[in-house]
Amino acid sequence: MKAAADQPAPRILVVDDNPSNLTLLEAQLRPAGYRVRTATSGRAALDAAAEGADLILLDVMMPGLDGYEVCRRLKGDERTSSIPVVMLTSLRERADKILALEAGADDFLSKPSDRAELLARIRGLLRMKRLGDDLAQSRDETSRQAELLAAEKSRAEAILFSIGDGVLTTDMDGRVTMLNQAAESIAGVTNEAVLGREWREALGARLTDGAPLTDDACPLRRALRGEQAVEAEDLAIWRPDGRQITVGVFASAVRRAGGQPVGAVAVLRDVTREREVEAMKREFVGLVSHELRSPTAVIFGFAELLMDEALPPSARRYVERIHRETERLSGMLQDFLDIERLEAGKIPYHLRSLPVAELIEQVAGDVRPRLERHQLVVDVRDVGLAARADRDRLLQVLHNLVGNAIKYSPEGGEIRVTAERHGQSAVLAVADQGLGLPRDAFARLFEKFYRVDRPDHRGINGTGLGLAICRRLIEDMGGRIWAESDGPGRGSTFRVVLPAAAEVTSPSATPLPRASGRVLLVKDDPGLVELIQRQLGRAGYEVEAVATGSEALERVRAAPPGAVVLDIKLAGEMDGWAVLKALREDADFADLPIIVMSGQEERAYGLALGVDDYLVKPVPAARLVGSVQRVARPQRRGYVLVAHDATAMPHLVGEALREVGVAAGA
Ligand code: ADP
Repeated sequence: MKAAADQPAPRILVVDDNPSNLTLLEAQLRPAGYRVRTATSGRAALDAAAEGADLILLDVMMPGLDGYEVCRRLKGDERTSSIPVVMLTSLRERADKILALEAGADDFLSKPSDRAELLARIRGLLRMKRLGDDLAQSRDETSRQAELLAAEKSRAEAILFSIGDGVLTTDMDGRVTMLNQAAESIAGVTNEAVLGREWREALGARLTDGAPLTDDACPLRRALRGEQAVEAEDLAIWRPDGRQITVGVFASAVRRAGGQPVGAVAVLRDVTREREVEAMKREFVGLVSHELRSPTAVIFGFAELLMDEALPPSARRYVERIHRETERLSGMLQDFLDIERLEAGKIPYHLRSLPVAELIEQVAGDVRPRLERHQLVVDVRDVGLAARADRDRLLQVLHNLVGNAIKYSPEGGEIRVTAERHGQSAVLAVADQGLGLPRDAFARLFEKFYRVDRPDHRGINGTGLGLAICRRLIEDMGGRIWAESDGPGRGSTFRVVLPAAAEVTSPSATPLPRASGRVLLVKDDPGLVELIQRQLGRAGYEVEAVATGSEALERVRAAPPGAVVLDIKLAGEMDGWAVLKALREDADFADLPIIVMSGQEERAYGLALGVDDYLVKPVPAARLVGSVQRVARPQRRGYVLVAHDATAMPHLVGEALREVGVAAGA
């Protein structure tokens, strides 16, 4: 056999104690392309074989170790056991052949051997050896791969089982195929108990409000439907031990190499404690902001009243300053309260069809009197354009965007508010010519507390909450908001997209009736009572104040006022809601105009109970007067009833009542 060009020639070890035999065999083998090595004794043969050979021709009859023994030893040594051995014997006895086979020989040849036969046997054996070697090699390779795989698997399992986050895998039908230890302890279940069960049912997964987790809301289903890595809103897990925990879920599809999904994997993180702490923080901020509102409202309102008085110039400056700063303070408190309520999901939305042009005009009307360096241009060509949104929330967003446009264009310039219809959407935009926005701001602009980190921006006061609130409000109403700018110093445009509505369903504002009437103010905060008396007094109303709910009911029954301004937090047993219900249940007062003025945004509840208007403190004088003017019943004689507990009140009220010809109650 000729050695293949890319393979070294096979090595043949020839063992014989007779040198002439060796010479003969060498002469037969070399021309056939084999490398030949010789040994003249059994020992030398073992040593040479250990150094490597592809085949051994072994003489049987040798002094010392004979051929049988050498063969046995070769086959017994793992270094040489796979080398084919051909025994050369001059004996022809059957017994000798048996002995040779028993010693482990692979073949035997009689001496002197025929060259052709010798070479044919050698070729056959070498082919077998090569096959055997290949087989052994691939067996070794396979077992090495298997070992690697097993090591990899146990490493992956160790990681999976020791990570702190819960890991859950499911098949295409959402049935659990694996749950790691952390997932077991999060859900309070065992692998055995949940394997093969639909994961939501097996783990007691629901929405945080307890509602069932539908396919559309299920993060694993969404991942299986082809959504990329789904980061779900918090979910609740109702454990078998009765505890309910909150988990953050991150799911994605598990795909074969071809991309075909075979199941889903989800990472579960127990965020119960985190959410509790967040809720506590929110509550605290909410509580503090809420408590600070009443005093702020009083300072703000009196400063507003004072500004209308004839004051020496320096005093006017101070009062204006107090007014401005209190307004800012109350804006900040409002932001804190809003973000707290938004995050707690406490803001109700009353989506209806709103006249966009009218809303923008309302905002422009509120803002224009305060403009000095800016021109506010409203450009709404499609006057019939309606957007589906909550009126107050959309007004809040527009106020915020226009407020920012003013604030962040300190040199003045034009502020342009536009609205257009784009297919099924209403697109509102507020554009200014001010400080503009650097490229790196866009990604974070609508995050809580984010403020642009540039000297010209830093010099302007703010909380960094306004845009976060705007985005939340707009997205909650099914819209989108984003900012555009050509860069610092080149102005900014904020765009809001909301679903367009077919027609306007909320009545547009009707002209206000002339101010006249009596108002009963039900409030237990003397500072606010005095303020409101002044505010309404200036608009021509008479105000009677009472501090408790029972007094209020008594007064209404004794002498029905043109309107009642009702606080919710009152001294005494009854709160404002109870007063409202009692009045609405009484047929005589079912239509009595009632305005609730509260620190809490609970408009939906108020409207459901039949209030005519709902004002959230602090209320600018114009808003309060406007509201009273709108709802108050025209009366023969202007007079307002204010409920509060100052001792001088009964006397004043009595006097007022006598003046209008009504017998004063106790
Ligand atoms: P605040 O005004 O209280 O800081 P916002 O959330 O309303 O908070 O705004 C966040 C930041 O975005 C602001 O600090 C300001 O840097 C930037 N910004 C907002 N509106 C504008 C605008 N019209 N022009 C330039 N920058 C703006």
